Amino acid sequence: MTDTTLLILGASGDLTNRLLLPGLGSLFKREPDRPVRVVGADRVAMTGEEFADRVGAALAAGGAGPEVVERQKASSAYFQLDVTNGDDIERMIDTIGDCGRIIMYFALPPAVTEASCRAMLNFPVPEHVHLAMEKPFGHDQASAAELNAVLAGLVPEVRVHRVDHFLGKSSVLDLLAIRFANRLFFNVWSAEHIESVEIFYDEDLALEQRAAYYDKAGAFVDMIQSHLMQVLSFVAMEAPAEVTGLELRDKTAAVLRAVKLWGDDPSTSSRRARYTAGNVGGVEIPDYVSEEGVEPARMTETLAQVTVEVRNQRWSGVPFTLRSGKALGQRRKEIVVTFRDVRHLPDGLTGPDPKDSLVIGLSPDTMELHLTTNAASDPLMLEQSVLRTGLRKSELDAYGEVLAAILDGDILLSVRGDTAEEAWRVTDEVLAAWRRGEVPMDEYAAGAPVPASWDTTPSS
Ligand code: NDP
Repeated sequence: MTDTTLLILGASGDLTNRLLLPGLGSLFKREPDRPVRVVGADRVAMTGEEFADRVGAALAAGGAGPEVVERQKASSAYFQLDVTNGDDIERMIDTIGDCGRIIMYFALPPAVTEASCRAMLNFPVPEHVHLAMEKPFGHDQASAAELNAVLAGLVPEVRVHRVDHFLGKSSVLDLLAIRFANRLFFNVWSAEHIESVEIFYDEDLALEQRAAYYDKAGAFVDMIQSHLMQVLSFVAMEAPAEVTGLELRDKTAAVLRAVKLWGDDPSTSSRRARYTAGNVGGVEIPDYVSEEGVEPARMTETLAQVTVEVRNQRWSGVPFTLRSGKALGQRRKEIVVTFRDVRHLPDGLTGPDPKDSLVIGLSPDTMELHLTTNAASDPLMLEQSVLRTGLRKSELDAYGEVLAAILDGDILLSVRGDTAEEAWRVTDEVLAAWRRGEVPMDEYAAGAPVPASWDTTPSS
């Protein structure tokens, strides 16, 4: 295995400490001998020893054993610099040297990432350097295209890893097996048999001191534009001939190109809401607008929903509803695939005939098949039975899974440039309609359910 340097720009930041290094720790737990060293760069003043201690603590939190932690602490290095200064970046890359692949991971605020990439246009980026880009990738379709153009001036596309850690979630990867290794599902996976698809990521967590980021993003950009669109592309893609980056990226890109707003109308296909004061699990939550760092005039939503159509031969006419929000009374993180009724229910069978469905839990990783069966009390009556199982528990957390591929230089779990742009297209349409005031800002008390009027059945 090639020696790899994980060069983290923004090494003192929240993402690095909370997700990235613990994710690497989970990878070291599975593969303690993986030849990776961690190098950090940030503007924060810190000695090499201080950085090594931080690396050690975060890797241990992710599950790395004491030997690995000590080895990593000893091999780590820290550069204090302004990452928007091209000369300083070039010098740092030279200092690290050509001892295998360098993964430059931009764990920086988005505007700083862009400035840093532009600064790198001033020197030839060596062939052993790969770029890993965090979300959000751009702030709309045009800016994503601009950022792609900058990256194309730095390295070829196969050396760009746009990170969406949902692609590393085991339940999302399990979709490959569930859909493509089972005749039972493979043959019914189309508008012919499926009535609707819902992808929910309802959280009970509130803002958690992340106003500086969240109030500028909102639920739609934070979750739907990136993560849930990627999940949608896995639910709806055509069968890949092989599981390779090239093949999966072609198939998922084709889905996102076919995504259209339901009824081509951003105002009827989308919903937004903001939480007011309430109680979540015994914890008092203030009004969103009175949280520290929130600017009410931004009109940031904490709950968003959109219904789209994948307008192609397989899916035309099937509503796909994507929803995510914060401070909700019920955590509901799942994909719900609802099947159509049978063409003819034999006369004589009576009783409630609820829709059959396949429910794939995104957290925790579970699978439920809701089927119509005979009632216990009367064989001619119908009722619903549920077959329930846990899905395989990955040894790696989602960041660890995505990192494993990136460190191998593999694009399998990285988002391709055109897909990153495409994922913004319907978002841009919805956000423009919201700015025009075409969609009311609903309210829900923290700890309450999603507003009852938010039916996921579209009107047209
Ligand atoms: P932070 O705001 O914590 O910034 C990361 C680090 O970069 C900070 O230490 C910051 O220093 C440093 N920095 C800023 N400007 C420069 C500069 N010019 N030169 C050198 N260092 C600089 O960001 P996060 O860690 O929260 O997020 C990083 C990225 O990850 C973002 O794109 C975000 O969207 C994404 N992300 C974050 C998640 C999270 O939970 N945090 C989750 C998913 C994605 P200083 O503190 O002094 O500004």
